[in-house]
Amino acid sequence: MVLAQLGGSLAGALARLSRATVVDDKAVAECLNEISRALLQADVRFETVRDVSSRIKAAANLSALAPGADKRRAVRNAVAGELCRMLDPGEPSFSPRKGQQHPSSVVMFVGLQGSGKTTTCAKYADHYRRKGFRPALVCADTFRAGAFDQLKQNASKAKIPFYGSYTESDPVKIAVEGVDTFRKEKCDLIVVDTSGRHKQEAALFEEMRQVSEATRPDLVVFVMDGSIGQAAFDQAQAFKQSVPVGAVIVTKMDGHARGGGALSAVAATKSPVIFIGTGEHIPDFEVFEVKSFVSRLLGMGDLPGLVDKIKDAMPADELKLIEGAFTLGVMRELFQGMQNMGPFGQILSMIPGFSAQLIEKGKEKEGQAKIKRYMTIMDSMTEKELDNTNPKLMNESRVKRVARGSGRPVQEVAGMLEEHKRIAKIWSKLPLRDRRLNTNHRDP
Ligand code: GDP
Repeated sequence: MVLAQLGGSLAGALARLSRATVVDDKAVAECLNEISRALLQADVRFETVRDVSSRIKAAANLSALAPGADKRRAVRNAVAGELCRMLDPGEPSFSPRKGQQHPSSVVMFVGLQGSGKTTTCAKYADHYRRKGFRPALVCADTFRAGAFDQLKQNASKAKIPFYGSYTESDPVKIAVEGVDTFRKEKCDLIVVDTSGRHKQEAALFEEMRQVSEATRPDLVVFVMDGSIGQAAFDQAQAFKQSVPVGAVIVTKMDGHARGGGALSAVAATKSPVIFIGTGEHIPDFEVFEVKSFVSRLLGMGDLPGLVDKIKDAMPADELKLIEGAFTLGVMRELFQGMQNMGPFGQILSMIPGFSAQLIEKGKEKEGQAKIKRYMTIMDSMTEKELDNTNPKLMNESRVKRVARGSGRPVQEVAGMLEEHKRIAKIWSKLPLRDRRLNTNHRDP
């Protein structure tokens, strides 16, 4: 559960405001105090919390609102907007390019020992493999005994080619040989794992610089452990000053209350966080996208409330996704949200018709695994398939292709499509559009 505690506290503060009989300056101040406390507990810097809080206050200025305006919605929008701002570094990141018409993309991973770098290299390569890339892994970590074996093991599990050596001690040599080998093999993404150290030290930075100069990566990814909270700021800065860090992956977001602090600290260094690690296994990995992350963080409650909150944090062009048909893409969004907020079973039980078949009582773990598998299946679908509203589009050959791409049996893909149809039926009966209009008239 990613940041369940922080999400629960933020959503709780907003829910209390929603239930308040009168939304006045006092009620908003109480809500803001609760939000500030939750952010401080997640180890967000005091100065950041103070700024976020005063900007929410200014943005949700009740006296400036038109008469009849929805005050609760104004506060919620302001909270979502400011959290997005806190987590958005404003810098885009390089994305690897697929296909032989492009040169291979080389992505070099750096980070301290124990941060989860080697595990994350495999997760990253596997993420792109599932998107149809031909990735490869190079182990240029000659410092840590066992690093090559670990990479090899992960690579084999994910069926990704790898390169490394038990005898060569020069990381630059291995990195160059590995990159050359996979360039010749026309892999479109070459991931280079480098050595870590227990702390930031000159030898580590020097080695990183040498490997970077020799392999000329398109992107340097800094991997850091989210449990260090706001200390992430200094660590990210130090790495940024030594090598051209173009993106950050924050790991161990599954078990640490301080993850929110780490994410905001990294954003403050103007480095984009592109993924977060949420467990020890290869699928425990999520794309990090600020708007959807914030909407999930704030989005606890009953389904219409959940949908409302997602709507608030969504850009206008994505809104039609939620208000329109229940496509596979919307289902995926919902699954992702459910995986990352609050106690899983509790959220599921709020969704009518969802839990009974999808997750049997007492079998929450299996249900959770099933949803993960469904997400893997949907990761292998094209945008067109995810956005489509015609059930006939998913014909036999498409189902077979998706099964192959996701490594799941055909029957399971078909089962997921059936499940989707069932949920779409329930969804179509929910008065999503009407609710949005009704809430405009709730304020005193
Ligand atoms: P490296 O020294 O930086 O290469 O780190 P490793 O990849 O060997 O990972 C160190 C430890 O952290 C291992 O036990 C991993 O299984 C664990 N780990 C990596 N990423 C995550 C994550 O996102 N969540 C959790 N809980 N553990 C992780």
